[in-house]
Amino acid sequence: MSYFRPSVDAMTGYVPGEQPKPGTPIIKLNTNENPYPPSPNAISILRELDPEWLRRYPDPYANDFRQAAGEALKIPKDWIMVGNGSDDLLNVVVRACAEKGRKIVYPMPTYVLYRTLAEIQDADRLEIPYGENNQLPLDELIAAQGAVTFIASPNSPSGHGVPMSDLRQLAANLKGVLVIDEAYVDFAEETALPLGVEFPNVIILRTLSKGYSLAGLRLGFAIAQPHIIRGLFKVRDSYSVDAIATLVGTAAMRDQDYKNECAKKVKKSREKLAIELRQLGFEVWNSQTNFLLTLPPSNAAKTYEALKRQNILVRYFNQPSLDDKLRISIGTDEQNRLLINTLSQIFSRGESGFLT
Ligand SMILES: *Cc1c(COP(=O)(O)O)cnc(C)c1O
Repeated sequence: MSYFRPSVDAMTGYVPGEQPKPGTPIIKLNTNENPYPPSPNAISILRELDPEWLRRYPDPYANDFRQAAGEALKIPKDWIMVGNGSDDLLNVVVRACAEKGRKIVYPMPTYVLYRTLAEIQDADRLEIPYGENNQLPLDELIAAQGAVTFIASPNSPSGHGVPMSDLRQLAANLKGVLVIDEAYVDFAEETALPLGVEFPNVIILRTLSKGYSLAGLRLGFAIAQPHIIRGLFKVRDSYSVDAIATLVGTAAMRDQDYKNECAKKVKKSREKLAIELRQLGFEVWNSQTNFLLTLPPSNAAKTYEALKRQNILVRYFNQPSLDDKLRISIGTDEQNRLLINTLSQIFSRGESGFLT
């Protein structure tokens, strides 16, 4: 006997990365947060908050935010919908478009939440492996004709960007919606935003969690043609984005210069860290994100544990094709230096005989 639907009983549930409290002496390189603080303008808005904002319900459309995002991206505001993080928007798309008989399709490995949402919705699901060198399985994805096709670009945990020509072909050949999850776009060389403008079935997802250093705020947004936005609006919770998130997010969105400057520093540190990790014997994949997928020169799980004992958290995925790798978020240069020093100590000690 169970209180739950069979599909809920059958699922494992999403396992988030560890989240120690701010102030704990830990170098946190496990969930791809931005190592720099949010825009000073966003912080001062929060400090000066008029409590009246809390007494009232928020604007369900978050029009101020839509205005700011629209100006930053040169998109009309009725092409934009906000959500409680882009996770919420992924959920809205799944609820609006997928069910049994209406399939969710995505290449693997990718963001684990796509599977979780499909399982909750009891939707059919098809996972298609990426080819050699992260080649998108374009023909299979098109043949699958999902009601929803998810592509994270840049992708996690691989860090690669999907070529624009592949995304364009998908958009043109899919009858269902193509969701391009651009959580890491601020660290990438290109954006698929023009495809969201051009194609009636493309939804671009953005978040303030990574590029804008606001993961704790929970604010994301979708960009698509107005007929899609109107449909998704019917499914979302009216007040999923709170008044504080809207205010602070609007200030952050209006400070593109600050965001771009932080992203530039992260990208520079990323290239430096990649070189240093390679010198330690890691294999490191090219990245368009604020993290590196790496193959350590020794057992990945044991390296993860040894780092954790030294108060450095990185991400270890206990799943096929990833359980020999570590995903490492880019920290400040100081944090990255401590990571490299700690790794070289661990390896030179041959700690707990794990260099096997
Ligand atoms: C971090 C991440 C998200 C979640 O973003 P939120 O706005 O914090 O919910 C979505 N997709 C991918 C691929 C991510 O890495």
